[in-house]
Amino acid sequence: MDYIRTDADGQLTLTRSTEFLFLPSCLYGFHNTETTVETARSGRTVYCHKGTLDLPEEERICSCGQRMHINSHPDIYIRHLCIGGSLSCLLFPHNQLRCPGCGATKSQHISFKAAGHLITDALYEYTSGLLASGTYTNKQVAEITGLGKNTVKAIDKKRLQELYTTDNGRKLIKPERQAKYLGIDEFKLHNGRRYATHIIDLETGHVLWIQNGKKKQVVYDFIDHVGMEWMSGVEAVACDMNSDFQEAFEEKCEWIQPVFDYFHIVKNFNDKVVSEVRKDEQRRLYEEGNIEAARALKKTRYILMSNRSTLQKKDDDAASGRIIHKGSPLFKMEDIKRKSGYEAKYDTLLQENKLLFTLDLVKEKLSAAYTLADEARMAGAISDIMDICQATGNKHLLWFEKMLDTHFSGIIAHATYKISSGKIEGINQKIKTLRRHGYGYPDDEYFFLKIMDMSRKKYIRNEPSHRIYD
Ligand SMILES: [Zn+2]
Repeated sequence: MDYIRTDADGQLTLTRSTEFLFLPSCLYGFHNTETTVETARSGRTVYCHKGTLDLPEEERICSCGQRMHINSHPDIYIRHLCIGGSLSCLLFPHNQLRCPGCGATKSQHISFKAAGHLITDALYEYTSGLLASGTYTNKQVAEITGLGKNTVKAIDKKRLQELYTTDNGRKLIKPERQAKYLGIDEFKLHNGRRYATHIIDLETGHVLWIQNGKKKQVVYDFIDHVGMEWMSGVEAVACDMNSDFQEAFEEKCEWIQPVFDYFHIVKNFNDKVVSEVRKDEQRRLYEEGNIEAARALKKTRYILMSNRSTLQKKDDDAASGRIIHKGSPLFKMEDIKRKSGYEAKYDTLLQENKLLFTLDLVKEKLSAAYTLADEARMAGAISDIMDICQATGNKHLLWFEKMLDTHFSGIIAHATYKISSGKIEGINQKIKTLRRHGYGYPDDEYFFLKIMDMSRKKYIRNEPSHRIYD
């Protein structure tokens, strides 16, 4: 067995000095008398540092003034920082004190133990730092630190509560700065049936508010939370025209201009018009007995939802012989090059079907309209689109035309309030990633705090090294 011994007057005896390093432990009051090398159930090596903990005389004095007795001293086992891939722990007798006068009892204070966990402050801080970096999933942090996933989650939740809540975790913090533009959107929770709503500062991308449900009440509660003075600094709010959030904002703060952003307009158009028209067309072709054409249409979802410029880019890549998948002689794989003909396929589809051609036209005109910085010109462009929809007489396009009509002023407001879709889309992607990593279940509160954290990317994990020597 490998070991290090300390003799009675605290002198370390090194019988095999080439086998050990002595490191500062920062474990004040702890005297390491012996270190054994053991194997954990997981198969990982554990350096078990056995020893004793100083009991200062002043800690033995009871509040009544008498000197307390040591009643018992059961061994306590505390996890400490890993050494490379190996785990380490401390094992020492933990004094339990009792006052012979008043009968009060207490456990000896351990200065280096993290509150609520059988781990050292150093391991707690290290774990918390890994979580704050946003680089690792909880599972990876558990692996790196050797802690169980429940402990990792508890440390993370505490970290998030300290950052984003006040009043003992009962209230969210107020926004860190005055926002000029807000974005509001709903997202699905883990079971896919319930919804929650988030409100973001569109300039920073920070999530300011999250609440269960997708009703107007979310907006009322948010306004209560930030207060009217803060709201008076908000000029516009970007939202989906398929919701009634803008009405709630207008009811309470009539100066706020709702803006219907490009991301949501296109999403509505793809989901509610393109998909439906394609399904109708497929059904019609089947009914007419044109099975081959119906099957061909079935595979066109991606092509129909793409922009012509995306398809052109793919064809250009093909022409320049761009490799999209690198081959390997080791695994008998050849390079895969981009196939061409995306745009040609698109054109064939459009020729076969006049309605599909209209969808294409509407999409290109929407994209062009959203680049305009002048409300009058944008109004003209959107009116053109409405005329085209109207002319088709198709029920899905008529629905879209009506949608544009009833939200007209909020759509053309985009020309004045340059609200990019990037932040809204970015948040949606981050929420999806988090849900995939399993943070969505079963603790929604943790999931929501995690979303708030992910939206605030800037973080310095390690202080610059010169700070240590200041
Ligand atoms: Zn006492």
